[in-house]
Amino acid sequence: MTASASALFDETAARARAEGRLILTEEESKSILQEQGIQVTMPTLASSADEAASAAENIGYPVVMKVSSREITHKSDVGGVKLGIADADAARAAYDEIVASAKAAEPSAAIDGVTVQSQAPGGGVEVIVGMTRDHQFGPVIMFGLGGIAVEVLQDVAFRIAPLTKRDAGAIVREIKGYPLLTGHRATQAVDLEALEGVIGAVSAFVSETSGVAEMDLNPVLAYADGTIAVDARIVLTAD
Ligand code: ADP
Ligand code: MG
Repeated sequence: MTASASALFDETAARARAEGRLILTEEESKSILQEQGIQVTMPTLASSADEAASAAENIGYPVVMKVSSREITHKSDVGGVKLGIADADAARAAYDEIVASAKAAEPSAAIDGVTVQSQAPGGGVEVIVGMTRDHQFGPVIMFGLGGIAVEVLQDVAFRIAPLTKRDAGAIVREIKGYPLLTGHRATQAVDLEALEGVIGAVSAFVSETSGVAEMDLNPVLAYADGTIAVDARIVLTAD
């Protein structure tokens, strides 16, 4: 694990625990992962429609906007994610729509605002890199295809951390959907080395940090050249 990721994790975890929460926000989680060398789309928090529009102007279009609430973890389930926002007016409108629909779905949740981030390019394959802690084996790394593949087909593979470079190669090749990563008809082969690098970085991080209970990079977009994590969540251990 990098020293800067470790320092940022300790500082962020201490602050979250002091606030009585164990789930780090998308922004906190991505900041730590970025220090660990993983490429991410970094969210900026806006607390009004005008702030959202100016954040979007700074970032450059298209942007993605997401509800920001410590009590909402599945943002799209509450109508809390909007993609393809192409100008300042759309960003203002999206702010109001996201807040309204999150409030309607979760009336008791405190909403901090809406985050704005750049939209990752199209043409990527969505994959998931995750970690859970097993009572017996400690941190276990999960890899699978994102979206419908993981929800319906449960096409995922597991390895006990820490993973060697060879293990990272093996976990990627173990899923049934592996041919979707190597290129077929319309799609290009993804950058497997970059993907294995993300898996290795997650493994190194969780193996050397006792305070992480769970971690999800869901999804990571894998391209012919590199990867980008567009959603991430780190959950702290209860003790
Ligand atoms: P949830 O909390 O529901 O998991 P996500 O942040 O994962 O919300 O967003 C839902 C979906 O929107 C993702 O699975 C991905 O397909 C898409 N998405 C989210 N952020 C981005 C982004 N920055 N660029 C491109 N697509 C994105
Ligand atoms: Mg997600």
